[in-house]
Amino acid sequence: METLKCDILVVGAGPAGASAARAAAMTGLDVLMVERRDRVGVPVQCAEFIPAPLLGEVDPAPGVVVQSVAGMRTILPSGATHLMRSPGRMIRRDLFDQALARAAEKEGARLLVSTRVLRMEGGEVVAREKGASHETRIAAGAIVGADGPHSTVGRWIGSENRHLIQAAQWRVALAAPMEVTEVYFHQDFYGGYGWLFPAGREANVGVGRKRRGASDEAIGRVLERFVLRLAEAGKVLPKPIGTTGGWIPAEPVRRMTRGHVLLAGDAAGHAHPVTGAGVSQAVIGGRMAGKWAARAVKAGDPGLVGAYEEEWRESFGEVQERAYGRRKLLEEGWDRLETAVKASWIAFRQYYA
Ligand SMILES: Cc1cc2nc3c(=O)[nH]c(=O)nc-3n(C[C@H](O)[C@H](O)[C@H](O)COP(=O)(O)OP(=O)(O)OC[C@H]3O[C@@H](n4cnc5c(N)ncnc54)[C@H](O)[C@@H]3O)c2cc1C
Repeated sequence: METLKCDILVVGAGPAGASAARAAAMTGLDVLMVERRDRVGVPVQCAEFIPAPLLGEVDPAPGVVVQSVAGMRTILPSGATHLMRSPGRMIRRDLFDQALARAAEKEGARLLVSTRVLRMEGGEVVAREKGASHETRIAAGAIVGADGPHSTVGRWIGSENRHLIQAAQWRVALAAPMEVTEVYFHQDFYGGYGWLFPAGREANVGVGRKRRGASDEAIGRVLERFVLRLAEAGKVLPKPIGTTGGWIPAEPVRRMTRGHVLLAGDAAGHAHPVTGAGVSQAVIGGRMAGKWAARAVKAGDPGLVGAYEEEWRESFGEVQERAYGRRKLLEEGWDRLETAVKASWIAFRQYYA
């Protein structure tokens, strides 16, 4: 079996992995990114909203920004609405992710696509390229697990996501352009919400909800009903141009390192536990993980990866813990949803109390 050697192995080339790889490669180390998809960022599994300041953190490639967003309108179960100013951008996530991966390659990181990391064996990582008859071993000084919500690397260190939100989304035509995103709370979307995010003449319409059990209605049907309601309100055309979905972590802060392994982005459960947004945390936290992985390898001291966890907790710990607490309020108060939303959704003052 062939063995590849590198200083730092990054599993997954999403925003967290590419940002980690870039930060580590900038220190001159040999960095290898391994991505199971054939093309980075494809298929898109995202509603494609990012807060405006994030663009200042990355090098926005041409075509990434689809439109500006001035704020977010929350629609409560009673129909009451609340508008919050929160400037953001709707982006093309495929181009965004590809630009981040290219930036890492420009710093010298290598990228292997169509290759899935399978397991850890005798201190080495085992991966297999799509269609290959043989497996490849990878020996690395440090490993960054940036492999998303169902992280294989997280399993190796006993730190997995346990609170996942299921999401489904249609791309639809928009009846008229919109300058704000819309978020809908409804009994159908337990522990989550429905969204209508404008993207020029089209929009991403989706539903995120926590699973309660086998008797749950299929999320596809919940989404279809939501789209029909939006169509009746004259906002969208009820025909999917494209469909996607996925899983979003809604986790309390938990361990993100062990030995020479670090987790970043969704693999570490770093999406916001109430909104489900995770691109910013993936980019910024991924960069931190890459920086500390590189320092640990350079110093020959795996213990240094613990400093990543400390820095992350300082930057994001409080926000994440508060959001997880608000999520619990939302779920516990679901029978009185209007009141629960006012106590637990980011648009309302009580959220920050
Ligand atoms: C429907 C939906 C809508 C969302 N909308 C928004 C939004 O509007 N705004 C926002 O900020 N966030 C949103 N999110 C969350 C956001 O997409 C994630 O937080 C973000 O993608 C996290 O980045 P990441 O790099 O950690 O993980 P990912 O983007 O999931 O990247 C992980 C990468 O690892 C690869 N991988 C996985 N396993 C392996 C393996 N074994 N071997 C090799 N490669 C592997 C995957 O192919 C993938 O490319 C949404 C999520 C969903 C599901």
